[in-house]
Amino acid sequence: MNFKGVIFDLDGTVYRGKEAIPGAADFIHHLRDRAIPIRFVTNRANRPAGDVCQQLTGMGLDCTPADVLTSADATAAYLKPGRVYAIGESGLIEALDRHGFIRDDQSPDYVIVSFDREFNFKKLSTAVRLISNGAQFVATNPDRALRLEHGISPGTGSLVAAVQAATGVAPLIIGKPERRIFDMVLKDMNLAGSDVIAIGDNLDTDIPAGQVVGMRTVLILTGISTRADLARAPVPPTWVVETYAELEGILLV
Ligand SMILES: [Mg+2]
Repeated sequence: MNFKGVIFDLDGTVYRGKEAIPGAADFIHHLRDRAIPIRFVTNRANRPAGDVCQQLTGMGLDCTPADVLTSADATAAYLKPGRVYAIGESGLIEALDRHGFIRDDQSPDYVIVSFDREFNFKKLSTAVRLISNGAQFVATNPDRALRLEHGISPGTGSLVAAVQAATGVAPLIIGKPERRIFDMVLKDMNLAGSDVIAIGDNLDTDIPAGQVVGMRTVLILTGISTRADLARAPVPPTWVVETYAELEGILLV
């Protein structure tokens, strides 16, 4: 198969819980051996790229921080630096600091909403007031829920929905399924969408984001979406595989 780059989703695609997906490490090695650049692109915004990379390395997955793009980094890189009220964890705060944003809870240019396990009524009220006063409402990602080892957890999208319900304003969304994060990664790789394969486990985010920028897409059935979900998928993937061994048979022959 002819391609020049590969983009992986993380959760459910290269790891699940604390374990690497079987075959992911070998597949990544085979791509590296062929000098095919790869990136890990995740909607999860709470941890900096370095922490994500350390986790991947700990699971035996070959990674450098420059290979990782989180929706927090993408948001900070996408917006023109300015004053910001941010709801989020260290991944977002560090990214905003690095890009020269100034925190302001009085009259910011932006209100950015992201995953925040210390979200509360006060933060919600502040966000609602500032957006009503004219700050631009931005969401790192739209994921409504996360599947964790112990069950389902609210995701960024649930917090975004609270702000949206109170203000009546829809956010600018940076993460998948919007194209902005994939446009950024293509620019960084200096490749066209048609040269890149996007691999993900989520029919609602990974596959539409890849398709809209012209990538060929792989749904790997190691995470959230199932074969039965294909019937109601907004966009069909180019390939559906159950394992990395099967994917090697398609891409690396
Ligand atoms: Mg995933």
